[in-house]
Amino acid sequence: MTKFNAWNVFKNGLNGQTGWSRQWRDPEPQSSYNVIIIGGGLHGLATAYYLAKNHNVKKIAVLEKGWIGGGNAGRNTTIIRSNYMMPGSHEFYEHSLKLWENLSHELNYNVMFSQRAHVSLFHSPGAKDANARRYNTMRLHGTDGELWDLNTLKKNIPHLNYDDARFPIIGAAVQRRAGNARHDSAVWGYARAADSLGVDIIQNCEVTGITRKNGNIESLQTSRGVMKGNKIGFAVAGNTSLLWQMAELGNLPIESHKLQAFVTEAVKPFLDHVVVYGVGGAHFYISQSDKGSLVFGGDLDWYKSYAQRGNLPMVQDVAEAAMAILPSIGRLRLLRHWAGVMDMSMDGTFFICKTPISNLYLNAGWNYGGFKASPASGWYFADLIANEQPHKYIQHHHLKRFEQGINLDERGAGPDPKLHG
Ligand SMILES: Cc1cc2nc3c(=O)[nH]c(=O)nc-3n(C[C@H](O)[C@H](O)[C@H](O)COP(=O)(O)OP(=O)(O)OC[C@H]3O[C@@H](n4cnc5c(N)ncnc54)[C@H](O)[C@@H]3O)c2cc1C
Repeated sequence: MTKFNAWNVFKNGLNGQTGWSRQWRDPEPQSSYNVIIIGGGLHGLATAYYLAKNHNVKKIAVLEKGWIGGGNAGRNTTIIRSNYMMPGSHEFYEHSLKLWENLSHELNYNVMFSQRAHVSLFHSPGAKDANARRYNTMRLHGTDGELWDLNTLKKNIPHLNYDDARFPIIGAAVQRRAGNARHDSAVWGYARAADSLGVDIIQNCEVTGITRKNGNIESLQTSRGVMKGNKIGFAVAGNTSLLWQMAELGNLPIESHKLQAFVTEAVKPFLDHVVVYGVGGAHFYISQSDKGSLVFGGDLDWYKSYAQRGNLPMVQDVAEAAMAILPSIGRLRLLRHWAGVMDMSMDGTFFICKTPISNLYLNAGWNYGGFKASPASGWYFADLIANEQPHKYIQHHHLKRFEQGINLDERGAGPDPKLHG
């Protein structure tokens, strides 16, 4: 694989760009692997990469039913932050942000990580207090976080509706190191780096059946033949319950819901930050892409489904939420909108854990927030698969936490996945 560096860019500029190799191979599936990761999204690819890189595992395959990044990895609004408060969550997401900070170098691929700050608006003194508690906790742990009063907010983001907003804006909680990255680049970067370490990335390979023997998974039936794996990892996001049932494991505390994203026509630089707010029934987050489009989203579509498309009422709902704080974008045309299938857990928190099947490992329950988590998710999932022990940051992220009363519910919203957007 040709490295990206100044010399190769120069050389290929002179030779008509003919010296670049393929980004990753297109291998034929082998009949057996040491580890098979199902799902070629960011979590699956990152897991394969860290298994090979951190743990020197050989013979790894990533099986993807469509094309890599065709799921939520390529459908999200790309917000990256680590403003978490609960023990475990805080350390996990901060580690993820630190991995993002060096990811372009690590993967030798520009993931276009832009630390433009995440600005979370608040609209009441109660919300200000809650944010002060959260951001002070972050600071106690060494993560950056600050509160902006109205004047600072107006100076930084002049175009918000400060005059007659339906939800009056009184300030914001800000994480400056947060921001966004280009999702496709992160997928391609992990794929290329994993491939260069020998990982087989097998696209158009749907897992259609799971054969068990003596409590273990013996083999996988796929659209490209039968494969055996000593260890199998699920990283299929919104499709997790389908695979879980295929393995005859019954039900999971996960519901699959749709979440849409929206992109407008491109305009000149207008918004330098990621801006978010959530109050009452309104939920909205927005940033401007490098090409100039405004990229935004809101709440779930409010019904369960495995289809990768959303419905029109949510377009209206998100447009209303946008107009409430940014009426200046009211005349922009929407170019595209699409949906991904979210793996919503009951407490809004993820699972990286062992399962009732001894050679099966689970990575799921990412809700709205799995893009930012993907480097750390891959890191700790690989660690679990290689060492058979959960790292202390993920020790409570297992399936028994509900019956054991372990509280990981970051929002304190209770046991309903719809409340954990
Ligand atoms: C509209 C939207 C906005 C979002 N915004 C953000 C955000 O701003 N910030 C953030 O942090 N997170 C965000 N998210 C969440 C984030 O995108 C997901 O949590 C994360 O991408 C999920 O992990 P993944 O990348 O591995 O999933 P996916 O990319 O969905 O990967 C799973 C893969 O498994 C494959 N698969 C499924 N079944 C099978 C099978 N039987 N055989 C083989 N392969 C199979 C699928 O095809 C898919 O490619 C958003 C999501 C959406 C949809």
